[in-house]
Amino acid sequence: MTLSEPMRNFFEEYTEAIVIIDDKNETTYVNKAFVHLTGYTLEEFKVFSVPALFQVKVNFTTISLDKNYRWECGLKCKDGTDLWMRVSISPFHFDDKHVGKIYHLSANPTQEQLKNLLKENETRFTILADATPVMIWMTDESNLTYYFNQTWLEFTGRKLEDEIGTGWFKNVHPDDRFVFSEIKKLLTDNINYSCEYRLKRHDGVYRHILEIGTPRFLADGSFGGYMGSCLDITEMKTAQIELANQTKELQRSNEELEQFAYVASHDLQEPLRMVNSYVQLVKKRVEAKRTDGIEEFMEYAVDGVNRMQGLINDLLQYSRVNRKGNPFATVDMNEVLKIVMAHLANKVAENKAQVELSDLPILQGDSFQLIRLFQNLIENALKFKAEGVIPVIKIAVEEKGDFWQFSIKDNGIGIDQKFYNRIFVIFQRLHARTDYEGTGIGLAVCKKIVERHGGEIWIESETGKGSTFYFTIKK
Ligand code: ADP
Repeated sequence: MTLSEPMRNFFEEYTEAIVIIDDKNETTYVNKAFVHLTGYTLEEFKVFSVPALFQVKVNFTTISLDKNYRWECGLKCKDGTDLWMRVSISPFHFDDKHVGKIYHLSANPTQEQLKNLLKENETRFTILADATPVMIWMTDESNLTYYFNQTWLEFTGRKLEDEIGTGWFKNVHPDDRFVFSEIKKLLTDNINYSCEYRLKRHDGVYRHILEIGTPRFLADGSFGGYMGSCLDITEMKTAQIELANQTKELQRSNEELEQFAYVASHDLQEPLRMVNSYVQLVKKRVEAKRTDGIEEFMEYAVDGVNRMQGLINDLLQYSRVNRKGNPFATVDMNEVLKIVMAHLANKVAENKAQVELSDLPILQGDSFQLIRLFQNLIENALKFKAEGVIPVIKIAVEEKGDFWQFSIKDNGIGIDQKFYNRIFVIFQRLHARTDYEGTGIGLAVCKKIVERHGGEIWIESETGKGSTFYFTIKK
């Protein structure tokens, strides 16, 4: 008993599984969809008794051939999995004489199965989400967060009930909250986004987070909320910032080096020229066998040599700020000022100056360099005092974020704004040596010291009214 060719072709292309049993209860045909669904070929399937396979206690042999039957049952597939399906049996006529049964197997899941499947998927998702090192959250269709994975909760050290809704937002760094106002528009348009912000970790430390948000759509195409993944990128960010700082520092030190080489060579030339011309004069006198003036020329030459020696020593001092600095330690700035005032006691008394100190903080730094810094600035305030005015020098400090901002204010001669930057360059002076002694190294050294302490130095001044030197030191 065989199927006619057109009938076989029809069943082969049929998308649902078909089994045909003849009137002797022997399986005579299974279609392609059946093989695909269960894994059994006709020969393999024949080995089993049909009821055993369908896990149902129905006596198939007694099933009336002129009736249709329908039921749901499990089927053990070749790979061992149980498949839940709807089975319907109908009588089947091979030709006019022979009647068999046709089993129509439909693997559509039932409600119960759907529920189980959903539960299984949810469990799978939760296991996966909790095991991943990425923080994951989900919002509902009104964009209120209702899910955070274990990784998120461990990171923030908070409970799910603290985080849901908008609870998580409290842990976003106040300066970064604007990021979420910016992406609001993207959220209303259901667009993918990525953003960066700082989020407070369980230990109170703010970490840099990279967040990627993706809209979720339900089966009917409607918006179901957002799903987001967040990664702690602090290490990467720190490396990036460090690299940028290093590049900036390299550029700065290159420029400084060029400026330094130019100024140093230029300034060293000046006493060298003087030495050279007086030695030439001495040479001429000696050649002419004359001795008049030689002593005076030699004095000028020696003066030039001394000046050059002074400049070279200054250069050495300047280059030592970074090379020979002490490691940072806890420094009480009140103690620093005490030492500075002891060093300058004579000069302060000579000038009848008033130095007003305020309470200063304790910070991390190189105490020798901090003494040097204050000493240079106070010495300058005394040196560049205004004619006939008692020098008044005020030292103050203010807290500015991560920095302490110190100020040294005097009532001296002041500086024109156009020289504000120049005075911090090595050997740059605004006055002749005869008016005010010095080599122009003091403020250049101050700048180097401040920069070594992570800060900046600048001046605000008015000619004839006085100057205020500001500098910051990292807390
Ligand atoms: P020096 O004191 O040896 O000249 P500095 O580097 O200390 O070198 O100062 C550079 C220049 O800045 C000084 O020559 C002076 O013109 C100016 N200057 C520094 N401090 C003051 C101040 N408190 N008031 C006015 N001018 C100042």
